Amino acid sequence: MQFIKDFEPEITIASPGRINFIGEHTDYNMGYVLPTAIENKIVFKLAKNNSENIANVYSVGYDGFALDLNNISRSNTEWENYVLGVLSEISKLTDRVKGFDCTIESNLPLGSGLSSSAAMECGLAFGLNELFDLGLSKLTIVELSQRAEHGYVGTQCGIMDQFASVMSKAGNVILLDCQSLEYQHIPIDLRPYKIIMLNTKVSHNLASSEYNTRKQECEEGVALIKRTNPSISSLRDVTREMIEASKHEMTQTVYNRCSFIIDENKRVLEMVKALKEKDLETVGSILYEAHDGISRLYEVSCSESDFLVDFSKGYSDVLGARQTGGGFGGCTLNLVHEDIVDIFKKEAAIAYKSEFNVDLEAFEVKPSGGTAIV
Ligand code: ADP
Ligand code: MG
Repeated sequence: MQFIKDFEPEITIASPGRINFIGEHTDYNMGYVLPTAIENKIVFKLAKNNSENIANVYSVGYDGFALDLNNISRSNTEWENYVLGVLSEISKLTDRVKGFDCTIESNLPLGSGLSSSAAMECGLAFGLNELFDLGLSKLTIVELSQRAEHGYVGTQCGIMDQFASVMSKAGNVILLDCQSLEYQHIPIDLRPYKIIMLNTKVSHNLASSEYNTRKQECEEGVALIKRTNPSISSLRDVTREMIEASKHEMTQTVYNRCSFIIDENKRVLEMVKALKEKDLETVGSILYEAHDGISRLYEVSCSESDFLVDFSKGYSDVLGARQTGGGFGGCTLNLVHEDIVDIFKKEAAIAYKSEFNVDLEAFEVKPSGGTAIV
């Protein structure tokens, strides 16, 4: 079918990417995370087209396609599945979506772990909810977007990305309990420091297979600890004492993985305390400590990320740094004094180029609001 990309929009929606300030790999272990939306976003322009069941979707830099709302199935074109998955999930909840036109434009740096996928899903779901007055709650939009990614894209992601994209509030991070989905906005004032992301430009193919291995190793740890502590159901329920008591039963690897998760959950809560007290030295040292665990215990770092974190340690005006995201590359997050941001970016780029012959990308992110009508 031919698609249409020129139309008069009725509504415009902006759906942001996100960073996770701390709490890595804790989401699927029912623990705590501390994400926030950022200013970079995907913008959706939408209008009803008065057809019963034809939708036209066009994404700048990708392509466009037309689809029949009564006949939705997976596409061989990867990005179309983010759209189709959302439409499929919405159709299970309501039949009020009719024909519409949609254009999509993004200023989220691609493949850098800022969750453009969640921004895609949540932006479209939010927009259709407004356009057709579907009456879906924000939490329903979050959950249906996650299911869309599981079902149509095939990524078994946790709930954090969609949650951050929709629920964030400017100037705050979200303390999200991935077990109960209870959450709290925590004000984050880092002045005079800024959050600078350094994009390693490494996206190892390892990421998804290793992700599944880590998940299994954590499950193995839980199963072993459960023998002596029948009431536990995830690493969230495991204390340091429990894991030490079962240490002799597990491999060093499983012990390391579980140790990291227990420490990381604790670090999220310590981070919240440090942010509330505006104790920025502690904020920074928790970031460095987390990276150490990511690298040595959970083993999801890579030489590029380790190099950049070590590089940051050479600056007293950088309070902390760690690799963010699923692992094996993506971006490092750095807490950098505003006076040295330019020089830090420049020197990091020179050092990175000479070590790996890759042009580093550096950019500032600011804790921002969630998906909204523009
Ligand atoms: P991340 O979520 O970390 O950015 P993912 O691999 O989960 O990385 O999601 C990236 C995918 O999302 C892209 O490969 C593409 O299929 C889809 N996507 C992201 N942005 C857009 C966009 N503006 N238009 C169409 N598809 C997009
Ligand atoms: Mg993603």
